[in-house]
Amino acid sequence: MTKGAPVKKAAAVKKAAVKKAAVKKTAVKKTAAVRKAAVAPKKASAAVEGAPPAKSVAKPPKNESRTALVRRARRIDRELAEVYPYAHPELDFENPFQLVVATVLSAQTTDLRVNQTTPGLFAKYPTPEDLAAADPEEVEEILRPTGFFRAKTKSVMGLSKALVEQFGGEVPGRLEDLVKLPGVGRKTAFVVLGNAFGRPGITVDTHFQRLVRRWQWTDQTDPDKIEAAVGALFPKGDWTMLSHHVIFHGRRICHARKPACGACPIAPLCPAYGEGETDPDKAKKLLKYEKGGFPGQRLKPPQSYLDAGGKPAPPLGAG
Ligand code: SF4
Repeated sequence: MTKGAPVKKAAAVKKAAVKKAAVKKTAVKKTAAVRKAAVAPKKASAAVEGAPPAKSVAKPPKNESRTALVRRARRIDRELAEVYPYAHPELDFENPFQLVVATVLSAQTTDLRVNQTTPGLFAKYPTPEDLAAADPEEVEEILRPTGFFRAKTKSVMGLSKALVEQFGGEVPGRLEDLVKLPGVGRKTAFVVLGNAFGRPGITVDTHFQRLVRRWQWTDQTDPDKIEAAVGALFPKGDWTMLSHHVIFHGRRICHARKPACGACPIAPLCPAYGEGETDPDKAKKLLKYEKGGFPGQRLKPPQSYLDAGGKPAPPLGAG
């Protein structure tokens, strides 16, 4: 609703009291919308409350032309952008060094767990020089909660040493340099490029791989080939946000085991609709985007997320 609409309506009935009430109603509605955004993506809840999308669901796109595929893929991304206007990297970081370390630590654990661990790590070892010269046992102790802590200690200390020895203690902003760092593959490199350097990158993580296969954007299974195939469907400038939208959707609605199809806002565009629960009420119970009552895994989320009504996730075990 536009800001002026209720005022116009009030003018039509020419009563100041009605005018006042209409303005008040808008304010209430707006507050409710913000509150709603804090607990559920707008479109997703509409899908739950409205008629099940089964009737309008897309048939698997047999012999879909290249143009039709590009159109469908971009439409899915546009819809997801509306559902998750606050999509962002879910690792807390303040500089490229923190992001590259946090991304390496995020293997086989949740971003929330990493966000709870990195403040202690960076307080003690704020620079690559500090971490490179650390006592490995002390680092292991700090990283223990993230799992695979010995291997992760080796990786983050190794990459810190490489940063100091080869790049003057700075994280390089080029793909070909990043992938030379120990423990840094293309996925981590693109996370860093896209989010710390503002250079477009596609993050092919487990969610991304699963969802693009479900949507039949590509039948490739190798992450590098998926990255190339999906990258070719979108303008380069969309890559970073596309990755966030897809990963947000995979974490919250289109889960690996039980996708919540009956509560999915892009069901009409999805050839895999029905792979998960289609009953709207049952599907609603599968939604996982709420964490302690609010979506998100960051302890220090970006302002855009807070502006959209999101709140930082509480510490693990709280609430
Ligand atoms: S939840 Fe179901 S309908 Fe939605 S994208 Fe995943 S498989 Fe498709």
